[in-house]
Amino acid sequence: MKVAEHQKVVRLDKNAGLWRISTEDGAELEAKAILLATNAYTDDLLPGLAETIVPLHSFQIATAPLPPDLAAGILPEGQAVSDSRRILIYYRKSADGRLVLGGRGRMAQPTGEGDWAHLERALHRLYPVLSGVAIEQRWFGRVAMTPDHFPHIHEPEQGLMAVVGCQGRGVGLMTALGERIAGYLASGDARQLPFPVSLIRPIPFHAFRQVGVAATIAWYRMLDAFER
Ligand SMILES: Cc1cc2nc3c(=O)[nH]c(=O)nc-3n(C[C@H](O)[C@H](O)[C@H](O)COP(=O)(O)OP(=O)(O)OC[C@H]3O[C@@H](n4cnc5c(N)ncnc54)[C@H](O)[C@@H]3O)c2cc1C
Repeated sequence: MKVAEHQKVVRLDKNAGLWRISTEDGAELEAKAILLATNAYTDDLLPGLAETIVPLHSFQIATAPLPPDLAAGILPEGQAVSDSRRILIYYRKSADGRLVLGGRGRMAQPTGEGDWAHLERALHRLYPVLSGVAIEQRWFGRVAMTPDHFPHIHEPEQGLMAVVGCQGRGVGLMTALGERIAGYLASGDARQLPFPVSLIRPIPFHAFRQVGVAATIAWYRMLDAFER
């Protein structure tokens, strides 16, 4: 198997039952079947697909490696924690002894360290003892939400499939789905799929999703605060 990284696919055409895949750099490939696994980074390669998801940013921070006396008192059995609020945070110790904590980030691209400040506050609320420990890493990525909170599998044409909607839990989920979808493409047996293929249904008023997200987050924050 050959993996070609950093090759943006810009066009898909079908000719005599074969797909032709064109990349931004001008390379061309032929394939019997295509699976678009572009999730929250979905662009306009397949019309309407990007409008079926709401991409959100997930932000993370990592402290410097913790001194042994501090590390011993935090998650001593190496637990990975995720709280049960709607706007949740999650954290664990990394293999190299850092505390790594993640949660929701702003909709726009981050512009400076201050955009991770809400996670630093959350970290210090949980573990005031870490307030003197440096935050050494800050990063972010996109996760894809769907209105029904399920991943969706689409097959707009024979030999062309797409899977989107990790709901921020795709490490295991999308990996397992990939295996099942490959099984379906190889065999044509729909029983390989864990749930049915659905139509590509763009979310109404998708262009205004940021307003919807802001309103939903405010509502969720209020519910979380009442339940505290
Ligand atoms: C900070 C953070 C923390 C997370 N924590 C967890 C966690 O603890 N547990 C968990 O289960 N999940 C977690 N997630 C979510 C998890 O990362 C995703 O669910 C998972 O990566 C989705 O996998 P995927 O293969 O479907 O899509 P992705 O990993 O998003 O891959 C999609 C790929 O498609 C590529 N692409 C898009 N368009 C094109 C194109 N036109 N041509 C070529 N390539 C294209 C993109 O460049 C990208 O590489 C986290 C995400 C973030 C950002």
